[in-house]
Amino acid sequence: TQTPPYQVTDPATGEVVGTYPFATDVEVEQALAASTAAYEEWRSRPVAERVAIVKRIARLFAERADELGALITTEMGKRPEDAAGEAAFCAEIFDYYADQGPALLADQPLPGHPGGRIQSVPIGPLLGVMPWNYPYYQVARFAAPNLVAGNTVVLKHAENCPTSAMAIARLFADAGVPDGVYRNLFATHEQVAAMIADPRVRGVSLTGSERAGTAVAETAGRHLKKVVLELGGSDPYIVLDTEDVAVAADLAWATRMSNMGQACNSNKRMIVMEDVYDEFVGALVERAAAMTPRTEADADTEFSPMVSRKAAEALLAQVQDAVDKGATLHVGAELKENAWFTPAVLTGVVPGMRAYGEELFGPVAVVYEVASDEEAVALANDVDFGLGAAVWSTDEERAVRVADRLEVGMANVNTPAGEGADVPFGGTKRSGFGRELGPLGIGEFVNRRLFYVQ
Ligand code: NAP
Repeated sequence: TQTPPYQVTDPATGEVVGTYPFATDVEVEQALAASTAAYEEWRSRPVAERVAIVKRIARLFAERADELGALITTEMGKRPEDAAGEAAFCAEIFDYYADQGPALLADQPLPGHPGGRIQSVPIGPLLGVMPWNYPYYQVARFAAPNLVAGNTVVLKHAENCPTSAMAIARLFADAGVPDGVYRNLFATHEQVAAMIADPRVRGVSLTGSERAGTAVAETAGRHLKKVVLELGGSDPYIVLDTEDVAVAADLAWATRMSNMGQACNSNKRMIVMEDVYDEFVGALVERAAAMTPRTEADADTEFSPMVSRKAAEALLAQVQDAVDKGATLHVGAELKENAWFTPAVLTGVVPGMRAYGEELFGPVAVVYEVASDEEAVALANDVDFGLGAAVWSTDEERAVRVADRLEVGMANVNTPAGEGADVPFGGTKRSGFGRELGPLGIGEFVNRRLFYVQ
């Protein structure tokens, strides 16, 4: 059993701001009953009606971006500017599926069979289990395509995100989403397992850690439910050569520090060719040392607290393990009060250290030195994860050759990450399976029904 219940603790101050009880089993039953009842009506509506409501959701995310942003700054520490930006990005996601969804769901002809076609029909109530690192975006990329497709959604958010979870539910209701089509539940892990086992739930999507993904996929497997998993990553960021090391390091640092390094597809391993390595590391260290923490007076400096004291302690333990085994900590990794952890640069990480194979979910840049493209590829693929990757070179063909050999779901050349509402997102290996966003995201929880009229 879990304690405490859903709770907001401001990571900047350590202050407990609000506590919310777990759902009762009666509330879980009511949510499933409502979701099932609402599904019949929701799926039967013309898609244009669902789209009109989803368009209103988009508008409300844009209108409420600042107030929504403030909630997650308190819940998980995100910089205010980024927090409002995340809410605004959700507007783009809902707009994208409202605009493109109907065409993506349209019947496909079956070549050679004039009477045959492939339909994309909804499958029923779905369960979403979402993490705290992008509290709005994670829900948006699951809910938007499925609401357009005609599925209904029960959502279990992370325990430190109850206020944003409620704000989403309220926003949907204000946009005209019928009761039962979207339900937020402060569910326990046991209630999640029970819902997956329930015959009324037709699929489950989880974004989170491997640990959570394993638990949910195990239950889903036992009950033969479709599951999408967006799990962790340890993305390589390979610099083969560059015209300007300082600029390259600056960009690598900025993408690593985004969301205080707490992004699944953050560039967690910088793999740098030996002739630029020393200068690259030097530039990163300089950059790290210059980071200034957020204050009351200046809320938008680049350095925020991590999500929680517990997360900061876990990151520190990974760094300490590496240092104990011979790695070099150039700067940072000081755990200050509450969840404040100073941005760090670590080199000399080798197999046998936790930092080599595990995901470092926070503001630590690990830099590796390599002597050849071959070595870069081998190092990049030598982890269990396979989410994203970026390869940089002034010689695009060379970078493309390297990128083509990476075991990842998203390979980027000369760009940190090709992200957007219209760009598919997801991984391979232990980073999970299935895709969200873009044209693929709406295909995960639909029945590709063969319809044949002779
Ligand atoms: P987490 O602890 O796995 O939590 C994610 C969600 O899963 C939360 O709602 C959590 O609920 C729930 N959960 C955890 N264990 C569960 C269980 N046994 N049964 C049912 N639900 C369970 O992950 P996190 O630490 O919040 O998030 C960080 C991880 O997510 C990182 O590994 C990151 O890389 C990954 N991530 C991946 C993507 C992607 O798209 N691939 C995107 C963002 C983050 P509680 O809060 O109640 O424990």
